[in-house]
Amino acid sequence: EAKKSGRNTYCIFKPGMDEFLARRRLIEADLAVAIDREELSLHFQPRVNLKEGRIVSYEALLRWQHPTRGQISPSDFIPIAEQSGKILQIGEWALKGACLAARDHFGGARISVNVSPVQFRQKTFVEMVESVLRETGVDPRLIEIEVTEGVLIDDVLRAQTILKSLKALGLTIALDDFGTGYSSLSYLGRFPFDTIKIDRSFVRELTTSESARAIVETIIGLGRGLKMNLIAEGVETLEEAGILASIGCQELQGYLLGHPAPIGAASHPTPDDIADIVMRAFDLVGPG
Ligand code: C2E
Ligand code: MG
Ligand code: MG
Ligand code: MG
Repeated sequence: EAKKSGRNTYCIFKPGMDEFLARRRLIEADLAVAIDREELSLHFQPRVNLKEGRIVSYEALLRWQHPTRGQISPSDFIPIAEQSGKILQIGEWALKGACLAARDHFGGARISVNVSPVQFRQKTFVEMVESVLRETGVDPRLIEIEVTEGVLIDDVLRAQTILKSLKALGLTIALDDFGTGYSSLSYLGRFPFDTIKIDRSFVRELTTSESARAIVETIIGLGRGLKMNLIAEGVETLEEAGILASIGCQELQGYLLGHPAPIGAASHPTPDDIADIVMRAFDLVGPG
């Protein structure tokens, strides 16, 4: 029996209607009220420096607990939010949550937060960030903004201006998913990134592909030359960690170090845990 309330209207779609579009429209409608209904939350995943044996920061990742569909992945709902424009509110909500978490719950560790190209394109983006920083009173040095290559190619000058303004506010900037976009290597030097995040697709191939390994080594060399920090994402195994460390990538994020989890349940690998991972990783691949 169908209810008449807003979020249970899927029965009005006739059988035969393109299921994909139908689902999309429903998700879009539900997403529009997800913040008000407190269905969104942030999970936090540690990023670790193997050499220093410590957590360098946590990445804030959105989670959506849908009332009837359960958890919906950000890879599914972010693109929809981007198309509908809802990402502007959701992104601001996520930034605010990340700032509050950094201020109150992570003992001075940095928090990085993802920003959509749609937010980045908005004229008032920098002002929005500034006002969230002011409202929450967080130390801006604790907040890192993650952008993807997509924001760079739109309009180079504008991207440079915005990144500079963010840095002037005291924030740091990371380039996320590096290697999956369309920007050329020469683009990198034109932007003031503090950190480059090597995409998981390279990490996944490290143990089986010589060329993936060569690419990652090249990215590491490039990052060093540009004095940028490098971090590998999606590290799941000791073997991957060992290879990365042996070719000079000391900062890792991935299930091996900790899964994303809510504030109270976030994993905080200790220096001993990290030393143990380093030891076992080098047992597998040697220190290079
Ligand atoms: P991302 O920013 O590249 O985040 C890393 C993704 O890899 C996360 O997926 C994380 O849970 C996952 N991951 C971490 N370690 C491992 C691992 O060892 N193995 C594997 N297979 N995966 C790992 P998640 O949380 O599903 O988020 C997917 C994407 O959604 C993010 O990719 C980001 O692009 C986007 N996203 C998440 N939160 C936000 C947000 O607040 N704002 C915006 N604009 N985008 C967000
Ligand atoms: Mg990210
Ligand atoms: Mg990424
Ligand atoms: Mg990604």
